[in-house]
Amino acid sequence: MDFRYTPEEEAFRTKLHSWLEKTRAEVFGRGGELGASTASLLDVGDDARWMRLLEYHRRLYEAGYVALHWPKEYGGGGATLMEQAIYQDEVLSFGLPLYGANQLAIDRIGPTLILMGTKEQKDRYLPKMLTGEEIWCQGYSEPNAGSDLAGLQTRAVLDGDSFVVNGQKVWTSLAHRAHMQVLLVRTDPDAPKHKGISYLLVDMKSPGITIRPLVQITGEAGFNEVFYDNVRVPKENLVGELNQGWQVSIATLMYERVSGGTRHPVQRTISELLNLSRHIEFEGIPANRHPYVRQKLAQFAIEAECLRLSRYRSLTSQLKGKVPGPESSFGKLFATELNLRVAMFADELLGMSGIIEKGSPGCIEGGRWLQRTLAARGLTIAAGSSEIQHNIIGERVLKLPKG
Ligand SMILES: Cc1cc2nc3c(=O)[nH]c(=O)nc-3n(C[C@H](O)[C@H](O)[C@H](O)COP(=O)(O)OP(=O)(O)OC[C@H]3O[C@@H](n4cnc5c(N)ncnc54)[C@H](O)[C@@H]3O)c2cc1C
Repeated sequence: MDFRYTPEEEAFRTKLHSWLEKTRAEVFGRGGELGASTASLLDVGDDARWMRLLEYHRRLYEAGYVALHWPKEYGGGGATLMEQAIYQDEVLSFGLPLYGANQLAIDRIGPTLILMGTKEQKDRYLPKMLTGEEIWCQGYSEPNAGSDLAGLQTRAVLDGDSFVVNGQKVWTSLAHRAHMQVLLVRTDPDAPKHKGISYLLVDMKSPGITIRPLVQITGEAGFNEVFYDNVRVPKENLVGELNQGWQVSIATLMYERVSGGTRHPVQRTISELLNLSRHIEFEGIPANRHPYVRQKLAQFAIEAECLRLSRYRSLTSQLKGKVPGPESSFGKLFATELNLRVAMFADELLGMSGIIEKGSPGCIEGGRWLQRTLAARGLTIAAGSSEIQHNIIGERVLKLPKG
């Protein structure tokens, strides 16, 4: 394992770092805070914050940073794995979202189309994903299909030149802001459950779609229920083969391999906690002098370092051409749980003053720590809950029998 950057990689990092510093200050203001759950997909907040996110996206695009992991021929950066890793580290250290305002499109929907889409689909959709002119959301989960996604029941029936969709999705992040959606639908109810699913591209303005925002525990409304009532989707919006949607949806998992849990800015949260401990008291003495607080801070720092090293190990084996193992499950589980524990410890430190609302006398750091704890719970559920990650590690790493 070699921890040093080559001169080219260091030059890439330095340039990116300066760009992020400047852009964050210009777009998001002096503190540069995006919100409670920094860098979370749901952290889109009110209209003003969303407009800033769109502006940030535009700048990412113009600077050529928006899709470093896409091939150049599709408008991406064609970056090496190392450059992608550097990009993720740097962006998250600034508490910014990895892919601007179009996280799902840039992260995985675009790569899915690059891999499995028709030429027409690529020409039509990829450029506007990059510019942020078309924002995408992902309609997978349903009231009775979350962890067991293959149990989904939203139906699509082919009728002439279009599919007719009926059903309901839930927890659809950004549906209320999105122009387009990838939708998993059941097209063959008689086939075994993984085999009767198809992957459609749906215009969110189609007649028959109703979007109902859901207010989260943080008070924000970042995700939605989406209802489909005889929604017509052109036949050419099918990606891959009919009834092969399951394979299409998992094809993009390979694009997640480089991240290995780094999508969560836990390192940054820990340094902010450290900073907080310098400014408050705990049990009558400065918090950063209290032995219990110091132990906790040291433990968090050690765990964050373990996460970083584990990711480098995975990156090294990928650079040697090895196929990535189940480390993304490990990274996701470890990072999101650590993130939650860090936020909860801040609440413990702040005690009652942690629950004072923004704008009220005595409120500390805009009340963001409590907001963070509330948001951090969601990150342990989204994209496969902690229990599901435990199952994957148990079965694939420890070779335990299926539960
Ligand atoms: C912040 C956030 C954003 C999201 N954004 C989107 C989005 O944009 N699009 C979308 O489609 N979905 C989205 N989701 C939904 C997300 O994918 C689901 O919440 C997740 O897959 C869990 O499904 P569920 O909520 O139905 O819970 P369930 O699957 O019903 O699980 C309930 C509980 O049972 C546990 N459990 C379930 N199965 C097992 C098992 N086999 N072994 C052990 N424990 C088990 C789970 O861990 C959980 O604690 C989002 C969720 C969150 C929190």
